[in-house]
Amino acid sequence: MEFIARSPKNQPDVLEVRYDCACGCKPGARYRRGTLEAGHEHCCCGNVHFVGAQALERLQAYLAERRAAGQDADLAYTLDTQQVRAPWGEEVPVAFAQPDTPRPH
Ligand SMILES: [Zn+2]
Ligand SMILES: [Zn+2]
Repeated sequence: MEFIARSPKNQPDVLEVRYDCACGCKPGARYRRGTLEAGHEHCCCGNVHFVGAQALERLQAYLAERRAAGQDADLAYTLDTQQVRAPWGEEVPVAFAQPDTPRPH
């Protein structure tokens, strides 16, 4: 996946990571500099991405929680991780999950 990493206007300590989803949406998730948090967005088609500290672990926990609750239990996901460079120079992990059968937009 091709991610776009930038800071929102007037928020130099925030990294927003977006992508052009195949369904037509532009999901974006945010990470704030210096925190141990990760933001995420779950696209209407089923793609999920997390940006920030322990992005992959959080993504796996999120999917496991949904599965335990019976949500999207029919889907199998392919996971992928990347690093993106924040405007302040930090390499920030991004984790991405793609379902085998996308939902309709
Ligand atoms: Zn989508
Ligand atoms: Zn969509």
